[in-house]
Amino acid sequence: DSDRPAYVVGNADESEPGTFKDREIIERNPFQLLEGVAIAGYAIGAKRGYIYIRGEYDHQANVLQEALTEARRAGFLGQGLFGTDVDFDITIYRGAGAYICGEETALLESLEGKRGQPRLKPPFPAVAGLYQSPTLINNVETLTALPPIIERGPDWYAALGGAEKSPGTKVFCVSGHVMRPGNYEVVLHETTLRELIYDMAGGFRPGHEFKACWVGGSSVPVLGADALDTPLDYESLNGVGTFLGSAGCIVMDDSGCIVRACLRLAHFYRHESCGKCSPCREGTGWLENILQRMVDGNGRMEDLELLERIFGRMFGRTLCALADGAVMPLRSALALFRDEFVQVVEHGSPRPEPMMEATAGA
Ligand code: SF4
Repeated sequence: DSDRPAYVVGNADESEPGTFKDREIIERNPFQLLEGVAIAGYAIGAKRGYIYIRGEYDHQANVLQEALTEARRAGFLGQGLFGTDVDFDITIYRGAGAYICGEETALLESLEGKRGQPRLKPPFPAVAGLYQSPTLINNVETLTALPPIIERGPDWYAALGGAEKSPGTKVFCVSGHVMRPGNYEVVLHETTLRELIYDMAGGFRPGHEFKACWVGGSSVPVLGADALDTPLDYESLNGVGTFLGSAGCIVMDDSGCIVRACLRLAHFYRHESCGKCSPCREGTGWLENILQRMVDGNGRMEDLELLERIFGRMFGRTLCALADGAVMPLRSALALFRDEFVQVVEHGSPRPEPMMEATAGA
């Protein structure tokens, strides 16, 4: 329906565990994000843009709000921009702390003032999004990349990096057992996982070595040491069985217990399941229960098969990707570290060293 107004929405509901790049982009350069939203709005003929920001990002929401006020005062947003008949303004909308609202259709429901639960797709937001109108929805990093692309041209951006389908740069958020956790922007394909972890993030404490890493946030299959020389780009990471995802690289050294880490993830997904589909609502709870009893030393060898059965009943059987995101990191961990699961079933899991507690979710 071409009579409906178009909208642009910036997704700043950054809630994936281990992912904290939007926070830093907004803190350090809010104007580039506002400019990106305005460029996107102009491109699709929208008069209104929204930035949906994670509820916990109190400071960042204030930074963005101040930048918005300044941009309006300078005449970069509002009506009749730069002496033309183009109107465009942005509203900042604060979420209420639900991980699922990072899913685009749940975000739009929340933005409309409803309970944040995913919609059945299609229709996709580009056809029927906010208020059933055509809506362009992108994340902060994508929108923030627009001003330099407009300035230098798409060929410049497309020429960055060496992988055919992964041009450009990506900010990797490195957390966990590394000496220098933080955000590292790399040109895709030019850097390997080993270089990111050891050269940029400083490697591990003396006497410790790499054990595992979830490279694309907590919802992707885990990687072991044999994947360390994989170039960081979409295709190469797919080639070793995982995804680039949110580029939240959660790293574990040999002091960490993989089953305890899986329990932590299962707890998160159980808590964040919106409850709309029963395989997700019930399955995430069962995954947590089983892993908890294993960690407590009450596990049974049949629990390993039971986990597999639950994975199979959840994966690909739900409305949105949260259930798949709960299954993939755990299923891959069970496949890659089965011996450790067996050991934990037999003896329980020792308490983690203090270092792990201190850096978890850094
Ligand atoms: Fe909600 Fe989980 Fe179903 Fe997604 S998969 S709609 S989070 S119950």
